[in-house]
Amino acid sequence: MDFRFTDEQVMFADAVRNFAQRNLAEGALERAHEEAFPRSLKSMMHAQGLLGITIPEEHGGQGGTLMDAVIAIEQIALICPRSADVIQEGNFGAVRTLAQYATPDQRERFLMPILRGEEVIAVAMTEPDAGSATTDLATSARPDGNGFRIKGAKVFPNPNADQYLVYVRFGPGVRGIGSVMLRNGAEGFHVGEPSHFMSGAPWAPLYFDDVFVPPEDVLLPAGGFKKQISGFNAERIGNAARALAYGRYCFNEAREYALERKQFGRPLCEFQGLQWKFSDMKTEMEAAQLLLYRAASNADRGLPAADETTMAKLMCNQVGFKLTNEAIQVMGGLGYSQEALIEYCFRRSRGWMIAGGSLEMMRNRLAENIFDRRFSQRPPKSESTE
Ligand SMILES: Cc1cc2nc3c(=O)[nH]c(=O)nc-3n(C[C@H](O)[C@H](O)[C@H](O)COP(=O)(O)OP(=O)(O)OC[C@H]3O[C@@H](n4cnc5c(N)ncnc54)[C@H](O)[C@@H]3O)c2cc1C
Repeated sequence: MDFRFTDEQVMFADAVRNFAQRNLAEGALERAHEEAFPRSLKSMMHAQGLLGITIPEEHGGQGGTLMDAVIAIEQIALICPRSADVIQEGNFGAVRTLAQYATPDQRERFLMPILRGEEVIAVAMTEPDAGSATTDLATSARPDGNGFRIKGAKVFPNPNADQYLVYVRFGPGVRGIGSVMLRNGAEGFHVGEPSHFMSGAPWAPLYFDDVFVPPEDVLLPAGGFKKQISGFNAERIGNAARALAYGRYCFNEAREYALERKQFGRPLCEFQGLQWKFSDMKTEMEAAQLLLYRAASNADRGLPAADETTMAKLMCNQVGFKLTNEAIQVMGGLGYSQEALIEYCFRRSRGWMIAGGSLEMMRNRLAENIFDRRFSQRPPKSESTE
């Protein structure tokens, strides 16, 4: 057991940090307040080798590890929190599921444009009546000729993505669920009225009105649900890494502020009430960090990591958010103001307690692991409408 980065990991972290300092430090505040996903950064991230880090080189990626991807997302977030969105999109979640299950032809048409920094992908999973209960999804894939017609609606994804990994139902039950690749703008594909998250990022409902999907655009046929959801394990690592990195960013800013800012004729750091706050923040931050690194490095070693990922997400989401909140308190009115990035990190990290599996769903999952029993969340069969 060794709790330090390897020499290669230290070098990689230094390289990413230097890249971020040179290219992303300037404009970080403005970028956070821009509405749209920062897609213009994708080609630069591609050139730096920061897209598809975990994807094998023969499939257009960098052939690195999940820990490398975690290091990348942390180092970018610590300099420019918003830019870490690009690392998330190009390394965790939908892109990984796509890379894992795509046919060579799908890799060429869907994956490569993402990895080259030309296109943006999003997952379209949540529906108006299927949030945490993902398997209640109703978007249907009806056979038509040798392809399928997709009908239904999704909520909450980035409305400006070029392609969507869409969870669909080929038949009844969990076994009927699979996924298809859809392009924004396909015939019958409509983006609804945009709304905004608390972070300022837009989302919009997507409507599929008998969109035709040729057989070669089916990613996972019926029976693919477990594979899709296991792709979420990696999404959760990215989600957790960003949440904690946002917290660390705020911790660092608040620490600098406490060293400089004087009240009652002395720097804030000399007040014991704040010192203890920092001591607790630091302790929780490092505890969450260890859970995250354990989950990522064990996943790299091929060890079963679902519960480790769940605990890492649970802890990093909560600690990350708490650190952003405490940093606002330390920085007073300035922390609460849009002149500092702290309030952005606070608003943004709140969403990760819901996205990618809510804290409650993480706890449900852990409880099953602890008791080695499945606890159905549904009413007993006799009361169920199913
Ligand atoms: C910032 C952000 C980005 C998102 N991006 C995407 C995206 O790109 N693509 C996409 O498809 N979706 C996206 N989502 C949607 C996200 O996946 C859902 O919000 C999430 O799954 C929860 O579903 P819901 O909002 O319908 O809440 P609900 O499922 O209605 O839950 C409401 C509350 O009840 C709790 N709850 C529900 N069931 C249980 C239970 N059995 N036990 C205990 N508590 C329970 C939940 O934890 C939650 O607190 C995003 C959400 C956010 C906030």
